[in-house]
Amino acid sequence: MTTQLLFRDDAYARNATATVVAVHERGIELDRTVFYPVGGGQAGDTGALIRSSGERIAIADTRKGEAIDSVLHVPALEMPRPEPGEMLAIEIDWPRRYALMRLHTALHVMSCVVVAPVTGGNIAPEKARLDFDIDMSLLDAARIERETNALIARNVETETVWISDAELDARPELVKTMSVAPPRGTGRVRLVKIPGVDLQPCGGTHVRNIGEIGGIRVVKIRSEGRRNRRVEIVLA
Ligand SMILES: [Zn+2]
Repeated sequence: MTTQLLFRDDAYARNATATVVAVHERGIELDRTVFYPVGGGQAGDTGALIRSSGERIAIADTRKGEAIDSVLHVPALEMPRPEPGEMLAIEIDWPRRYALMRLHTALHVMSCVVVAPVTGGNIAPEKARLDFDIDMSLLDAARIERETNALIARNVETETVWISDAELDARPELVKTMSVAPPRGTGRVRLVKIPGVDLQPCGGTHVRNIGEIGGIRVVKIRSEGRRNRRVEIVLA
């Protein structure tokens, strides 16, 4: 069963109403959701499903289901399970998600300052990192911070662009991240565009204007192996 992914068109949607489609061992499936499932390096959302009685079912994590675009809402331990067909109000932990959005978009900006293949990445609510296949001597924390923040200060609006799988195949230079394959399977691929800065396939949630990031601080640069030089950032 496919879940309607409300965050894909509106990353700022914090709540919605939804109907329970199925309740599995691994999680609860809804007909539509604002919860982003862990993927592309971005952590899954947390939040709550609220029953008509007012009872809150805390959601500890969100994961992808078996089918394309299916989403599993993972209840916290000991939480009651809703019934299939039940209507719920759903809401994500917005401050946590907004931090993820700001950090995720910040990584896109930073990937234009450090010009090297990206071999890994992760976005948590309090910090984010990219791994690069690059010589350590080329990574200067102060420069990365300064240049990333200068781009952020341009305050440009981000855009979502969809292209076909075939168009992406014809433009392999768009894929910077070697470790995370662009989300495929539906015949089209979503690109996140930061005009004048960056364009790359990404299924994650981003801020509308890169100015919302505010600024970043590089907190760590270290080697995690020959092809993984890790740059870790926090919001300034
Ligand atoms: Zn991304």
